[in-house]
Amino acid sequence: MNVALFTNAREVVTCAPPYESCVVKDAAVLVIDGTIREVGPAQQLERRLPDAARIDCRGGVITPGFVDSHTHAVFGGWRAAEYAMRARGMSYMEIAERGGGINASVRDVRAMSEQELLDRSLPRLDAMLRGGTTTVEIKSGYGLETASELKQLRVIRTLQEHAPQTVVPTFLGAHDFPPDFRDKRDAYIDIIVNEMIPAVAAEKLAVFCDVFMEPGAYTGAQARRVLEAGIAHGLKPKLHADEFASSGAAELAVELGAVSADHLGAISEQGIAAITASKTVAKLLPTTLLFLGKKSYAPARRLLDGGATVALATDYNPGTSPTPSMALVLTLACSLMGMDPLEAIIAGTAGGARALALDDGTGTLAPGAPADLLVWDIAAHDELPYRFGAAPLTGVWKRGHRVA
Ligand SMILES: [Zn+2]
Repeated sequence: MNVALFTNAREVVTCAPPYESCVVKDAAVLVIDGTIREVGPAQQLERRLPDAARIDCRGGVITPGFVDSHTHAVFGGWRAAEYAMRARGMSYMEIAERGGGINASVRDVRAMSEQELLDRSLPRLDAMLRGGTTTVEIKSGYGLETASELKQLRVIRTLQEHAPQTVVPTFLGAHDFPPDFRDKRDAYIDIIVNEMIPAVAAEKLAVFCDVFMEPGAYTGAQARRVLEAGIAHGLKPKLHADEFASSGAAELAVELGAVSADHLGAISEQGIAAITASKTVAKLLPTTLLFLGKKSYAPARRLLDGGATVALATDYNPGTSPTPSMALVLTLACSLMGMDPLEAIIAGTAGGARALALDDGTGTLAPGAPADLLVWDIAAHDELPYRFGAAPLTGVWKRGHRVA
């Protein structure tokens, strides 16, 4: 039996309900065989367990590991040239005409081998780990043809075996339409429904099915068709919803019982009403809107005050959010969306776990949860978002093992 006691922490943020009392001062965390056993008064636990291995947190703060519940972390090359064009004022359409945009990532994934994609993805997961992300969702969606979507999902499965993190796979064949199907969109959806989804389900390559619903991308009827086919094959629905314009996507997510509705930068009044009355998690991705230079953000305050479960994630991808930093996301949530530091920490941990339907305690330090925890060299949890995406992280533990 492996008994470890994390001691000398000024605060332990359990992120477990009731949230009013989830910041525990001068507490220790008892971990047995990779599982959280107890969070309690430090002196008492130290006296009771004199032989436990001690991890001295040096007056810092302990939180659960981050759960980054929305990423596109398996891709080929970066797209910095495109960013430079955009900074000089070029429009998305002009960039696309010059070979940029999502099509650049689609060309990469189609051309590269599984091994090449894996070699490029592992360092990205390592960067996420060093930033405190111990659970990560990764989507396909840069293949947009059956063989390449399956290839991308197999890379995600290999990451699941090789990376220290828990990796949760999502099928996103409906990320966009491939260039040769722009004028026959329903024919591409036929391929998703009749070929891709059955193949993904047969190989058990994904837990979730996702669609990019947005004016110009997938319509409500098209999104419904894809998500219902996924449900029929055991893939849980989620949705890229109302990112730039509202199109009833949040409402559709609720109607289909989606686990989460993601983005919501332009959610309508009806959408807010639907989400707050549902179990669908409102997942907010502020780095994307910041990086694109947008001036308005998802209405986090109204969603929270209305009772929605909110999750925060990076949207890590080479086009619109090339950052793996959950700490930065938390800062933006507080500075741009009016979230309180504790709300942001909960949304980046327990909220992310809810958005991935993980019910084993992941994202919390509740008894029985996997011992995924972070030790920060800060005096109070408010400092985590305050130190502007760069709060000093001194250690990362995954299932009780130090991994960074
Ligand atoms: Zn996305």
